Amino acid sequence: MTDKNDILFARAQKTTPGGVNSPVRAFRSVGGTPRFITRAAGPYFWDAEDKRYIDYIGSWGPAIVGHAHPEVISAVQEAAARGLSFGAPTEGEIEMAEEICKLVPSIEQVRLVSSGTEATMSALRLARGATKRDKIIKFEGCYHGHADSLLVKAGSGLLTFGNPTSAGVPEDFSKHTLVLDYNNCEQLEEVFKSIGDQIACVIVEPVAGNMNLIRATQEFINTMRKLCTAHGSVLIFDEVMCGFRVGLHGAQALYGVQADLTCLGKVIGGGLPVAAFGGRAELMGHMAPLGGVYQAGTLSGNPVAVAAGMTTLKIIQQAGFYENLTAQTRKLVDGLTAAAKAANVSFCADAVGGMFGLYFANEIPGSYAAMMASDKERFNRFFHLMLDQGVYLAPSAFEAGFVSAQHDDAIIADTIAAAEKAFAQL
Ligand code: PLP
Repeated sequence: MTDKNDILFARAQKTTPGGVNSPVRAFRSVGGTPRFITRAAGPYFWDAEDKRYIDYIGSWGPAIVGHAHPEVISAVQEAAARGLSFGAPTEGEIEMAEEICKLVPSIEQVRLVSSGTEATMSALRLARGATKRDKIIKFEGCYHGHADSLLVKAGSGLLTFGNPTSAGVPEDFSKHTLVLDYNNCEQLEEVFKSIGDQIACVIVEPVAGNMNLIRATQEFINTMRKLCTAHGSVLIFDEVMCGFRVGLHGAQALYGVQADLTCLGKVIGGGLPVAAFGGRAELMGHMAPLGGVYQAGTLSGNPVAVAAGMTTLKIIQQAGFYENLTAQTRKLVDGLTAAAKAANVSFCADAVGGMFGLYFANEIPGSYAAMMASDKERFNRFFHLMLDQGVYLAPSAFEAGFVSAQHDDAIIADTIAAAEKAFAQL
């Protein structure tokens, strides 16, 4: 064994289950050895062999301004020099809360946490505490982090490993989680009609990115809003992935619908652990120390992480940021689609803002079932053909991809040139 990635992977597996600290980093579904990353800059990262890749996962979403952006790095360095964590409030946390409230109109008050999982888990507890109801609705293929109640038919990493519901979730928990079909309005109407008064909340990825990319239809979002309002249930938009990714004001602005609670993560930490949940002040007033719903965190609102997040939030508000990001992502998916067509490969692609989906299928899927029918084996071969040429896509057919502001025309052209070769060999 001479490849440094292979050597590191063998070593990692001795002390870490599967050699990785998050399952989607493993190459279990595509086969081969995960690349161990040594450094990153702009649209690139380098592995242990010093091979350079154009990166289309962007740390699974956070790296929207590109890796190691000089302004983010210097904000982190300055914050770190002042101390790493105090366990007492800081002005930076107020600034971040003000910024989030300004950018997401449905959020009047927000609580900072350290991961998307904490954000959704806490939002769920808040919804249950505020409504005094137990049942929740989620949709098959949506991933909302790994809290027990939400780890039921949860897409993404679980789909990749053919295990849609995690072991270790007691039936007593999962029985309160109703799993419905994404984009199926009739089913949602029926469930609300029969047990609407028992439903604490509906949680949804308004642009789903954990069963590849699937857009909610406008009708689906409108139906959810209407039913939650009519039955006194809390509508939770999990925008951990799509927030600040599909546009500056999130999916809510795209659909023109306000959620009762919104979960954020990824981009708002700019690569360090910051996530958040927020909504109307009246609802957030149920949170401790004001109300009876408990939630806490030793490192919540960590000053170094907040510095990275705030700097990222400033950069994404620069004029033309989302126009450019959206245009580059569109160029990428259009170029890939044309390359596949030229090679006579059944393939299509979609993009919303800086998020994209690649499907080895004839049509862009609109449901979990349609997504599952796409050609996973073909994706796996495509993935490796691209990887060999220095293009790093998500190592699973069920994940969305991410473009950063540093993916310029030359990078997109290089990617499409690599794809032309890959499609020709499929
Ligand atoms: N919600 C969504 C939509 C996500 O995509 C993710 C992570 O990918 C999470 C929640 C969980 O976030 P974290 O991995 O930070 O716990």
